[in-house]
Amino acid sequence: MRLSQLFTKTSKTIPAGETARNAQLLIQAGFIHKEMAGVYSYLPLGKRVLDNIADIVRKEIGGIGAVEVQLSVLQPKEIWEKTGRWNDEVVDNWFKTQLKNGTEVGMSLTNEEPLANTLSDFVNSYKDLPTYIYQIQNKFRNELRAKSGLMRGREFLMKDLYSFCRTQAEHDTFYERAADAYMKIYAQLGIGDITYRTYASGGIFSKFSDEFQTLSHVGEDTVYIHEGRRLGVNREVFTDGVLAELNLNRDELVEKRAVEVGNIFSLGTKYADALDVYFTDEEGRKQSIVMGCYGLGISRLMGLLAEHFADERGLVWPEAVAPAKVYLARLGNGPDTVKQADELYNRLTDAGVLVLYDDRDMRAGEKFADADLIGIPYRVVISDKTVAAGVYELKERRQSEPRQLGSDELVKALGIPG
Ligand code: ATP
Ligand code: MG
Repeated sequence: MRLSQLFTKTSKTIPAGETARNAQLLIQAGFIHKEMAGVYSYLPLGKRVLDNIADIVRKEIGGIGAVEVQLSVLQPKEIWEKTGRWNDEVVDNWFKTQLKNGTEVGMSLTNEEPLANTLSDFVNSYKDLPTYIYQIQNKFRNELRAKSGLMRGREFLMKDLYSFCRTQAEHDTFYERAADAYMKIYAQLGIGDITYRTYASGGIFSKFSDEFQTLSHVGEDTVYIHEGRRLGVNREVFTDGVLAELNLNRDELVEKRAVEVGNIFSLGTKYADALDVYFTDEEGRKQSIVMGCYGLGISRLMGLLAEHFADERGLVWPEAVAPAKVYLARLGNGPDTVKQADELYNRLTDAGVLVLYDDRDMRAGEKFADADLIGIPYRVVISDKTVAAGVYELKERRQSEPRQLGSDELVKALGIPG
């Protein structure tokens, strides 16, 4: 991507009315555009980060046998009335609207009911189960406060997975595989070491649910971490009784602020029963379906990564999600400089390396400030001077000093096959 062709621009001014550091930086760097509190659009660079996170999630969730769908956002009220969740006193953050004829519809905030309802058209026998279904789709929630930037949106991108099993044991096995897949996802995003599987309140079926909490001073949650056992306990269930049950000692736990980056639930048979979807077992008997649901906040993760890795100069993306691997800054318009920069851009692009090519007519200081703000892992400079000296200048975003390298060394340092 050539920066001369990118419509977004960076800004030196902190956006007024935006208190969250993640959104401030992402707006200033041109990754997102704020439409209203808690509602953001993703611009080209931001869209790439979001897609990169989604692709990591897709790979791991597909890897445990789930298939991807895209469910409707508009949802009929009748389905939700069957489980009692249409009622605003039960779920207070619905966005609801009406058709021209007055029929009420809801906008997706989760999808247990519609998906169980869909399955009633397909599942009859024990041979049809288990099945695992997920999607990556915008969710709508009328959140009371939306002051954490991408970390608490009123419209946000979530991966939601649902499992439908024949027995509790079959469910439990999948539940653990899903938890493992989550930890693999966080590890690839570079936050594995600060993310803890955490006991939280269980909801309808099980005593606990599992949250995945990433330590962060801007987190909205309070958790108690046991470093040795790599687990946490959410404040909402932090009682002497629970600690005894989990065999945890109060003095070994440390209180921390954290961001909930995922949440998995055992739902028992309540939803499928309410939607009237059952299966017949080998003996021809009617049986209830055991469900689980597994949410993971994709846009929240983007906000968290932005905020967590940032330094005083701007964003610092982990390579796995960065909108490009290399920021190629061309300084000067000498024909040899332009030629060499174009050649390197083409060579990297041909090798499958994503490059942000800063081919704009701007001062070096401005280009370097933009490179730092945007946070691409590697910055390569080609200037009239480097061309004359026969070198390339390479700097990693996390380091402050550039290195001078020959062409082969550069290609090697960028991990590209020669
Ligand atoms: P929270 O406790 O933070 O309000 P939740 O428990 O309501 O979230 P779930 O319904 O389990 O969340 O949603 C699954 C995941 O979606 C959460 O773990 C979180 O990562 C993400 N998520 C939830 N609400 C939001 C939001 N308003 N904005 C961005 N991401 C969200
Ligand atoms: Mg929660």
